Amino acid sequence: MPLAIAFDNSYARLPPRFYERVRPEPAPSPGLLVLNTTLAAELGLDPEALASPEGVAALSGAAVPEGADPIALAYAGHQFGHFVPALGDGRALLLGELIARDGRRLDLQLKGSGRTAFSRRGDGKAAVGPVLREYLISEAMAAFGIPTTRSLAAVATGETVLRERPLPGAVLTRVATSHVRVGTFQYFAHRSDVDGVRRLADYVIERLYPDISGSDAPYAALFESVVQRQARLIALWLSVGFIHGVMNTDNMAISGETIDYGPCAFLDAYEPNLALSSIDRQGRYAYGRQPQIAQWNLARLGECLLPLLSDDRDKAVEIVVERLSGFAGKFESAYFGRFLEKLGIAQERSGDRELVTELLSLMQVGKADFTLTFRRLANLTDPDADTEAFLSLFGGNAGLEPWLTNWRARLATGGRSPAESAAAMRAINPAVIPRNHQVEKALDAIIDGSDGAPYVRLLQAVTRPFEDRPEDADLALPPRPEDRVMATFCGT
Ligand code: AMP
Ligand code: MG
Repeated sequence: MPLAIAFDNSYARLPPRFYERVRPEPAPSPGLLVLNTTLAAELGLDPEALASPEGVAALSGAAVPEGADPIALAYAGHQFGHFVPALGDGRALLLGELIARDGRRLDLQLKGSGRTAFSRRGDGKAAVGPVLREYLISEAMAAFGIPTTRSLAAVATGETVLRERPLPGAVLTRVATSHVRVGTFQYFAHRSDVDGVRRLADYVIERLYPDISGSDAPYAALFESVVQRQARLIALWLSVGFIHGVMNTDNMAISGETIDYGPCAFLDAYEPNLALSSIDRQGRYAYGRQPQIAQWNLARLGECLLPLLSDDRDKAVEIVVERLSGFAGKFESAYFGRFLEKLGIAQERSGDRELVTELLSLMQVGKADFTLTFRRLANLTDPDADTEAFLSLFGGNAGLEPWLTNWRARLATGGRSPAESAAAMRAINPAVIPRNHQVEKALDAIIDGSDGAPYVRLLQAVTRPFEDRPEDADLALPPRPEDRVMATFCGT
């Protein structure tokens, strides 16, 4: 019996030009790789049913579950600054939407389920490496408390896909509060389809920003809200050393969730200019450029909304420029708020921001490991603590003692005991992140050695990132020079 899911497909009720109906290409021999039982329960889905042959068939695209109305969404996008008028779901389809236990409407998407009307020259498939990579990193981001699409399952298709070499194929089941992107607005705006832009904006307001539906200027409020969520999202990315790697406008979700994990990476040593993606040779999407790029992408969104904002073009431009110029302040307040929390400071006071920027400068000069610097700093809230393990991260760089003195003096005025500060810091500064070299190692073990144990171990560790577990101590360490990953690949 095919799996039945209580789908309610609001996007499929939009006009037909928003999507193309599509059937998944049946996987010849589906096999479950990973299932997110916790997430399944949140979605009101029975993990046992999902793991059954019928469930796995549905998760691989071999069988369409009852109630599904699979569609591939139309969108456009600026890729590395160049506009492409028609991208769309080329290797993904929206199975349908379901209402989670907490009342949220969520998309269930299959990624890697075969060709669609938007596949262009692609095969519509995904290789097991990128699928398991997205699963792991998106679940780690969720565990960090960062808005993100989620991963419900990864299923092997039993098929070989041709990339640089033949690789096992897989399908990811992705969950999102919506897959509408900046590029979705661009798709309609580029076609001068103002009605399409308006319907999309109305849809997004109702689904993602219901608070503003009563506003007398809903489209300006929508733009401002998207700016706000993106500013916060990028601040959160930076707070864990995350580099998205492909911040094209089609990879920026209107919901403010992180989406489309391709060649993303995490900082080991703090280096704001780091860009690891093999397709980002110019460093357009380097770690420290992400706020600027987000603002650039938001400007593209603002352009799409112009006809909705005012009949007077100058007035509309003024609204966009005004809201867009608010990005920097919103970003900085989220960024410093978060970094101060990382330092154990709950309430910002004047002069606090220098504590952050000074530490980051010292980290950059000393090539200090980003994650461990903050994690180990939590051990130093007590003035008598041994600083050696912390200072060793900076390669003997002098100049930290004055910073530590200032920081401790500031902590002492915050109303928390050293132990309370330490606990607060350990709750926000992860001990374990999906380090690039560990991710590659775990994926290589599966692909080349058919050994899933390192992946399972890493997944468990990064989804409980704030615990110090002695048995996972090796996963918390930066790479040795010879293990360092010099480039990441999207593998599409
Ligand atoms: P992404 O790398 O996810 O940002 O994808 C950019 C665009 O390329 C999207 O429109 C994808 O649907 C499309 N695409 C990526 N890989 C494939 C593939 N293997 N087959 C078809 N389309 C693809
Ligand atoms: Mg994409």
